[in-house]
Amino acid sequence: MGDLELDTPIQYVKGVGPRRAEQLETLGVKTLEDLMMYFPRRFDLRREVQPICTLNDGDDNATIAGEIIDARQRHARRPIFEIQLRDESASITAKWFHGGYLAQSLRPGLVVALNGKISSYNNVLQMVNPKHQIIYDPSGAKLDQDELLPVYPAGGKLTSNIIASVIQKALPQATQLLSEWFDKAYLAKRGLMTRDKAIFAMHRPEDREQWAHARRRLAYEECLLMQLGIAITRQKEISRPAHSLLSNATVDQRIRARFPFTLTDAQDRTVAEITADLARNRPMNRLLQGDVGSGKTVVALYAALLTVANKKQVAIMAPTGILATQHYRKILAYLENSNVKTELLTGGMPVKKRNRVLAELENGDIHIIVGTHALLSKTVKFKDLALVVVDEQHKFGVEQRTGIRGKGFAPHYLVMTATPIPRTLALTVFGDLDVSTIDASPPGRGKTTTKCVSAKDIPATIKFVEKKLATGQQAYFIYPLVTPSPQLELTAAQEAYHELKDGPLGKYGVGLVHGQMPSDAKNSAMRDFSDGKTKILVASVVVEVGVDVPAANVMVITHAERFGLAQLHQLRGRVGRSTENANCILIASPGNPLALKRMEILTKTCDGFKIAEEDLRIRGPGEFFGTKQHGLPELKVADLIEDFELLRLARRDAFDIIDEDPDLAMPHNQQLRRAMLKLYADRLGLIAGA
Ligand code: ADP
Ligand code: MG
Repeated sequence: MGDLELDTPIQYVKGVGPRRAEQLETLGVKTLEDLMMYFPRRFDLRREVQPICTLNDGDDNATIAGEIIDARQRHARRPIFEIQLRDESASITAKWFHGGYLAQSLRPGLVVALNGKISSYNNVLQMVNPKHQIIYDPSGAKLDQDELLPVYPAGGKLTSNIIASVIQKALPQATQLLSEWFDKAYLAKRGLMTRDKAIFAMHRPEDREQWAHARRRLAYEECLLMQLGIAITRQKEISRPAHSLLSNATVDQRIRARFPFTLTDAQDRTVAEITADLARNRPMNRLLQGDVGSGKTVVALYAALLTVANKKQVAIMAPTGILATQHYRKILAYLENSNVKTELLTGGMPVKKRNRVLAELENGDIHIIVGTHALLSKTVKFKDLALVVVDEQHKFGVEQRTGIRGKGFAPHYLVMTATPIPRTLALTVFGDLDVSTIDASPPGRGKTTTKCVSAKDIPATIKFVEKKLATGQQAYFIYPLVTPSPQLELTAAQEAYHELKDGPLGKYGVGLVHGQMPSDAKNSAMRDFSDGKTKILVASVVVEVGVDVPAANVMVITHAERFGLAQLHQLRGRVGRSTENANCILIASPGNPLALKRMEILTKTCDGFKIAEEDLRIRGPGEFFGTKQHGLPELKVADLIEDFELLRLARRDAFDIIDEDPDLAMPHNQQLRRAMLKLYADRLGLIAGA
């Protein structure tokens, strides 16, 4: 028992038996080291500790602290556990009915704080059933009147108090086992506290300033480990050989001639970055982000045509069949009368056609294939795939990302996202990618005005829409998934569809798309709308991503309060894609302040990056992208928003370390390697032979 190690199972730590060990394990605490890394959520300043002699009968929130000088079980009518607590001024009795379970933890000699109500019994003051907090063992540090009381995340039967007492007991010995990861100069340069000191102070800080320092060190550590994981993943990805795809002035001009406009400066810059990437014999690994309608698809097509000019194949993937079909049609339009052969592959295709496409992919007749993630299936074989473009990455997730690459070739890889990635997430969830940003839209775009109205304004809204339709514009009517039931989603959109059809707007032609429709019906409804056969499209959220109908400049979103910020921004991006000004009308009854905040942000700005940062702030990183789905463990100490600068520092350091020592094989990196593998090995399958 005396010789604890960091990997000693928690059960053998003082104050923990098999039962508590089990409970601690549900909190992720399996070893002494885990216990040391189980940090308080916050600290409460020990409210003014009163001298016992100043207590009065009836004080109902008194806090006292002192040494237990006696503890006993008594059996009156009910079993009572009773202690005698003494401070410098006096002593008092505290009792707990049915408190036998406390006999273990509240022993004579310990110093504890008690908080609760003061009453009197036979004219003697007492505390009944107070909250207690062990401040220290006789072996521990001195009692400090300003001591911060740690509040640990509790779970099940384990209260913060129990966890605190176990940790405080183990702390002095355990911190001696902790060793430093970095040398003195490294720490000094970054202003970091040593590891043992930091971990000690996380549990028992002298004051808040010391705690903040400790927290900074551990947040750095956490960020560094994460960035090491990312740096190694990236290293592995880009160290595979890839086809070098070269360009020259002729090729460049030929490609540009395909577009009926000149590229914007932002597009030019991005094209240059991608062209440089493709020329290397290492796979490109790039995220292309730009607000909806900023012209990403055009940039992706440029990359595709450059690949085809090098006699290689391209796969372009979209998250839904509608989007894939739309990309396909757009690409066909750009490529009219060219020799580039483009095909579509989706889930619902007739078998015969599918087989033909598969055969032509394998023999190299098809240059560009557009599809859904069906393209990832094992039956799809390419002759010479050199570029994979994934549109709207956030619908896929990391597994699929590695899925594409695990196929034995190393294609260049371009991800497009119209959900602007807040800078924090660009360095974490997408941290293994280089980032290109299209930060300006093509010129001459109209302005989108957003208004938020309530349900009673619906008649006025319909009148407004009718005026716009009369001028030749088209309109979306969007309905949310009212409940998680697909059936009800259908009802909401469908009812609205019939109402609109039979109402004054019916003469403009009304179409309907929703998630439960067969893809044929969906596609034909989309086509009718984009060809202008129907002027109104009633839709559930399926139009959220990427749909491009420039003549549609009015959008009415019903129950807007039920949508998330990013989703509303995406939806709104469907309008304002031409030179006309656009209108977005949010019909909302924001019942809660957060929904109200979302509406406010949307009416104020159309800047996707601002909206994304706000969204991240409101929802937190975990929910924003579903961190778990992306293979990154949750951070316990670091706050990716507040600690952004620290994250950046850690990233630079991690990439430097991996540059110098790609497998973390050097002796001075062994601690880092061990800690990193502990967190990341099963998630990312890192480091060969580890
Ligand atoms: P995104 O994929 O970013 O949503 P797209 O590439 O689909 O954007 O472009 C949106 C619209 O803008 C399309 O209709 C496209 O034809 C047009 N567009 C793209 N680039 C330019 C440009 N440089 N000048 C004018 N129009 C452009
Ligand atoms: Mg697009």
